[in-house]
Amino acid sequence: MTPGGPSGLDWFGEKSADFRGEILRDEPLARHTYYRIGGPAKLMLVPKSVEDLFWIHRGLKDSGVSFAVLGVGSNTLASDDGFKGVVIKLSKLDQSIEDLGESEGVRRIRCGASVAISTLLKRASTGGWGSFDLWTGIPGSVGGAVAMNAGTHLGETADILESVQIFDLKSGALTELSRKQIDFSYRVCKQVTSSTLVVSAVFKTRVEDPAKTLERIQATLARRKATQPIDKPSCGSVFKNPKEAGLHAWQVIEKVGLRGYQEGQAQFSDKHCNFIVNLGGAKAWQVRALIDEAKKRAHEKLGIELHEEVRSLGFK
Ligand SMILES: Cc1cc2nc3c(=O)[nH]c(=O)nc-3n(C[C@H](O)[C@H](O)[C@H](O)COP(=O)(O)OP(=O)(O)OC[C@H]3O[C@@H](n4cnc5c(N)ncnc54)[C@H](O)[C@@H]3O)c2cc1C
Repeated sequence: MTPGGPSGLDWFGEKSADFRGEILRDEPLARHTYYRIGGPAKLMLVPKSVEDLFWIHRGLKDSGVSFAVLGVGSNTLASDDGFKGVVIKLSKLDQSIEDLGESEGVRRIRCGASVAISTLLKRASTGGWGSFDLWTGIPGSVGGAVAMNAGTHLGETADILESVQIFDLKSGALTELSRKQIDFSYRVCKQVTSSTLVVSAVFKTRVEDPAKTLERIQATLARRKATQPIDKPSCGSVFKNPKEAGLHAWQVIEKVGLRGYQEGQAQFSDKHCNFIVNLGGAKAWQVRALIDEAKKRAHEKLGIELHEEVRSLGFK
């Protein structure tokens, strides 16, 4: 902390002239999560450029306040108590998509972290960028997809990533990492920690007849619509598949009798029971209670440990 300077959250107010992004105070996290759940963030910063990230780095260093990172909130369960520090929301940092051209049959596409996957899929279906179909139906941001190594039955982010630009909130360093320098595993990117931000990434895709890409995307969307409760707020799959048990997480939840089980307005969906849906006005503690109940029953009845895919924000 800088001696004599503004302290705590005041730093961000007093130095705000140097910030081009948005500063929101006591901002309900329910407005920023797909679950529509979450109490207020004391301060929310929405950076619009890399310069803004350098400013945030200085502020965090000088003020010593705690912080958390949010993409567009499609895989986040925020606490009913909100968050007492700074939430950095990366929905407006970089929304650009750039075609870097083709060589040896591979086209390279640079995407800002804030690009919505649905936007990218629209571009992919007009450009015939066939490899992006593996993200079909994932509602998050490109940065979130890298951070989560998001994927579907068609593959995962690691399969198409070529390089990533990351910003370290603690050191203030902006670094480019090649695919070889990144360790991905199931829904994990080891280099994206709680204090590193994905700024942009380069992906490689095969190019094909755009009609084929569009057809596959539409078929997958139709299949997901038929099998997932996408009409209700959720975070998608709550638990990772316990692959060592040879089961899908939804099968475990079904076996322990939790399909359709409800705690207040939170429910293990009848349609796809690895989704916990918000039936209207659900609280984070109700979602947590369902998560804990599933873990307990899976352990006691089947000897299976369930691990969360959903990320928590603001829980003690
Ligand atoms: C209906 C529905 C269906 C879904 N289906 C799938 C699916 O098929 N496959 C799948 O993998 N996921 C799925 N998800 C989950 C979710 O969409 C993905 O995990 C997505 O990649 C999260 O992106 P986000 O921007 O919303 O991340 P957030 O929820 O905002 O954040 C999730 C995590 O990523 C971190 N993060 C986000 N952006 C950045 C960034 N730029 N830099 C550093 N860290 C960052 C956050 O700190 C947090 O730890 C689904 C969700 C819903 C609601």
